[in-house]
Amino acid sequence: MVVNLCGMRNMHPPENPEHTKLRDAVRDFADREIAPHIASWDRQSRLPVDVVHQMGELGLFGLTAPEEFGGSDLGLTGLSIAVEEIGRVDQSVGITLAAGVGLGVGTLLAYGTQEQKETWLPDLVAGRALGAFGLTEPGAGSDANAMATTAELVDGQWVVNGAKQFITNSGTPITSVCTVAARTGTAADGSPELSAIIVPTDTPGYVVEPLHDKMSWRACDTHPLRFEDVRVPEANLLGVRGNGFKQLMTCLNTGRVAVAALATGCIQAMLELTVEHAGVRPTFGGPIGRKQGVAFQIADLEVMLQASRALTYRAAMLKDTGAPLDEFRRASSVAKLYATESAVTATRIAAQVFGGYGVMEDGPIARFYRDAKVLEIGEGTSELQRMLIARGLGLPVE
Ligand SMILES: Cc1cc2nc3c(=O)[nH]c(=O)nc-3n(C[C@H](O)[C@H](O)[C@H](O)COP(=O)(O)OP(=O)(O)OC[C@H]3O[C@@H](n4cnc5c(N)ncnc54)[C@H](O)[C@@H]3O)c2cc1C
Repeated sequence: MVVNLCGMRNMHPPENPEHTKLRDAVRDFADREIAPHIASWDRQSRLPVDVVHQMGELGLFGLTAPEEFGGSDLGLTGLSIAVEEIGRVDQSVGITLAAGVGLGVGTLLAYGTQEQKETWLPDLVAGRALGAFGLTEPGAGSDANAMATTAELVDGQWVVNGAKQFITNSGTPITSVCTVAARTGTAADGSPELSAIIVPTDTPGYVVEPLHDKMSWRACDTHPLRFEDVRVPEANLLGVRGNGFKQLMTCLNTGRVAVAALATGCIQAMLELTVEHAGVRPTFGGPIGRKQGVAFQIADLEVMLQASRALTYRAAMLKDTGAPLDEFRRASSVAKLYATESAVTATRIAAQVFGGYGVMEDGPIARFYRDAKVLEIGEGTSELQRMLIARGLGLPVE
């Protein structure tokens, strides 16, 4: 069974004609090329690279990139539209795109030199290659400053040693590059000096461990990584030495909006499926949608959908219109927190409305239910978002 359409078009954010064209094209692509296959990819924990190439041909990996590098410059609004529409059909393919653009392309676009951009972006933007982003470690997740991976400058080369955990898109046959956060020294105040280093994945010592066996996003490629004396040229420093933490956190703001869009797509799917099911599933002489106990839960889905969508596209609009970083940062955390927690609630409601069919793996609800949970964890947990929002309000929260 694949995601059913019931012809609903929900309120959409203000979109320009190009954005609307993009939404229609991606929805059509997702229904045609992803929906029929995703249950099997999920079961096999595998995403065929052909789908990445197809998304590349549609221009989806270049939505935030300028024309100079093969992109269409449709901004974070454009990326959010594409991720939402893919996410409405499947979350694994959605996060593959969101991370590929937000973290793979995004870090290089934001901080790369012209030469670094010319080297890496054309293939990443075309979907011929994927880029990964290595921040999390076995001993350092939310507290990224506690990372142990080091990069030492020796004879004009960075020598990277350490390990990363849970890295999306890091081990596919087309992954070309990983931006690795590492300690490059100690700052004047005694805190770790963190920098970002561009590591081509064919560098000797870049070790991709076997896939994580995940409950969520099973068809997305996620691996632990090890770096054993990985040597790259000094020129592979991304941005400014010692600014790695700030740089990567800034990129995460963009990534969080993409995750909010993914959550919005999940809620949209739950709404469409439950409205259809409640209209036809009979109990006690009529469809379950006649019972207030069911209909009111579905009404709540519509509220969550509209609010999540509004928050997501407000954050995207702030980024695209060059709003002050503080304002954008807070809006991205608010959108990520609200939309992802709503997606978890939405999948719980949908599973309840579907009864026994909601927990069967031959239908889509169970997959969305498993997938929704990780939305509250990846790219900063709900607790981290609350911490950032509270700090943005001037509270002295630790
Ligand atoms: C499928 C998947 C894909 C991922 N992809 C990537 C990737 O591509 N690149 C990458 O770098 N990382 C990636 N991550 C890592 C992800 O960002 C981390 O899992 C996340 O930041 C949380 O870190 P942690 O898992 O170490 O949990 P921890 O930091 O150990 O947190 C455990 C719990 O403690 C809570 N907590 C921690 N500190 C506080 C605090 N100060 N106040 C209140 N509560 C707190 C957390 O909210 C959480 O509930 C991915 C993770 C998953 C599951």
